[in-house]
Amino acid sequence: MELARLVEVWSALRQTRSRKAKTKLLAGLLHDASSGEVALVVGYLSAQLRQGKIGLGYATVQEALVVESGGSGGSLSLTEIDKRFDAIGRQHGKGSKQQRQRLLRSMAEAISATERRFLASLIVGELRQGASEGVMCDAIAEASSADPATVRRAFMLCGDLPKVAVVALVEGARGLQSFGVTLFVPLRPMLAQPASDVRGAIEELGEALFEYKLDGARIQVHRRGDEVRVYSRALNDVTHSVPEIVEATRTLAARSLILDGEALALQPNGRPHRFQTTMRRFGRRRDVEAARRSLPLSVYFFDLLYLNGESLIDLPLQSRLAKMEALVSDAVRPRRTMTDRVEVAEALWSQAIEEGHEGLMAKGLSSTYEAGSRGAHWLKLKPAHTLDLVVVAAEWGSGRRRGWLSNLHLAAYDPENDDFVMLGKTFKGLTDELLAWQTEELLARETHREDYVVHVRPELVVEIAFNEVQQSPRYPGGLALRFARVKRYRTDKTPKSADVIETVRAIHEGAQPRGS
Ligand code: AMP
Repeated sequence: MELARLVEVWSALRQTRSRKAKTKLLAGLLHDASSGEVALVVGYLSAQLRQGKIGLGYATVQEALVVESGGSGGSLSLTEIDKRFDAIGRQHGKGSKQQRQRLLRSMAEAISATERRFLASLIVGELRQGASEGVMCDAIAEASSADPATVRRAFMLCGDLPKVAVVALVEGARGLQSFGVTLFVPLRPMLAQPASDVRGAIEELGEALFEYKLDGARIQVHRRGDEVRVYSRALNDVTHSVPEIVEATRTLAARSLILDGEALALQPNGRPHRFQTTMRRFGRRRDVEAARRSLPLSVYFFDLLYLNGESLIDLPLQSRLAKMEALVSDAVRPRRTMTDRVEVAEALWSQAIEEGHEGLMAKGLSSTYEAGSRGAHWLKLKPAHTLDLVVVAAEWGSGRRRGWLSNLHLAAYDPENDDFVMLGKTFKGLTDELLAWQTEELLARETHREDYVVHVRPELVVEIAFNEVQQSPRYPGGLALRFARVKRYRTDKTPKSADVIETVRAIHEGAQPRGS
């Protein structure tokens, strides 16, 4: 397969937002790749170079590859490109820089300008992926006729998409089943979805484990005998930076284990340091002992995934916790309670916030460990944010709300374009009194109608509480509010003094998964 074909698909991927279309494009590409090319296709489209760093700096790459002219107009095969990257990576010692430059230039001469731009971004680690890991898993499933859940499971267990793709396409479903939990191969961590509040979490999970949500760094610890490795959320080996976690793990009475947890630096008064402060301890290779003295880490374990040669990820949480009980003392576990009573969980919530923690996690007692997935069995509860937003339209209500304008279309102000950017809708939190008031006020501002939607002049400002900003292809700003509800109308505010889209973006960025 030629690089030109891959780059063509990469461009097409970036032009569609449809998950189905992306899956189809990728599956087609994988289908056409030979078994030797599959890993390269998946690697390149997941922004990974098989060789890792090959000693090419930004300037060299720019100079050799980001030029519009030259090039043969032809292409090179993926395996040829891979061979040439190998050759570049092999250059060491005196004169190697010039040699790498020469090799890169000769590669550039054989390919088109678009291909050169693609490779340049790939080499310097700036390639914008055309497809998420989830979409890639679906495409691998489609191309290999395997069950998507089996592909995802293999991926979460080894964290290596090119490897999963090769096994799926070469060995099929049976090969995928052979992936298991392996010591010193980090699994992708289980993730959490936001929940509105404690009551919402109990409605969803029933009786659940509520635990402090600590704002530190996710860690996964593997141990066999005295050998201990600590991995970050991004599955990087950070053992060297965190000797206290290694020591704490060695004291546990087990032959082998994998624990999931969070590490954070505490202030002398016991309150957590800011996340950024904790992170200073990670990735450090020099002066580790000095750093440890000035900023000691505390470790808290909240899950046990493997014990004495046995994987536990398919056991329900309650069984995993029972095994943990015997192994890990309370001092190194997050404070927690198991309950189905709102007031009990709320008491823990208040305590967590008072002590400076982020909130709570709520976990389903019968849930298995869904590595790599943001499933519905782990819910995160954080204090709500509020924003003052502008109502740009409203929908006629139905049922009990018939005759009233109910579902509000909410937008933030965009001062740069003097426009309003829609972020979502809500009819939650509206009392009968507010419904009556807003119906009258909105109708007085009507500009036009479309079906059951009444568009209005953007004049009314409403204070909205919400739990999270998430990415959304549905709205023009690419962002949407989760669990939005009306708190009150801000009749004292003008629409241009409402919150701006930049603020919403900042909230979104601040909430992005962290960890190296
Ligand atoms: P978020 O990063 O906001 O999606 O929240 C999930 C993260 O919270 C996890 O990746 C962990 O790093 C962190 N966390 C803190 N405390 C806990 C806990 N008790 N259980 C699970 N995750 C926790």
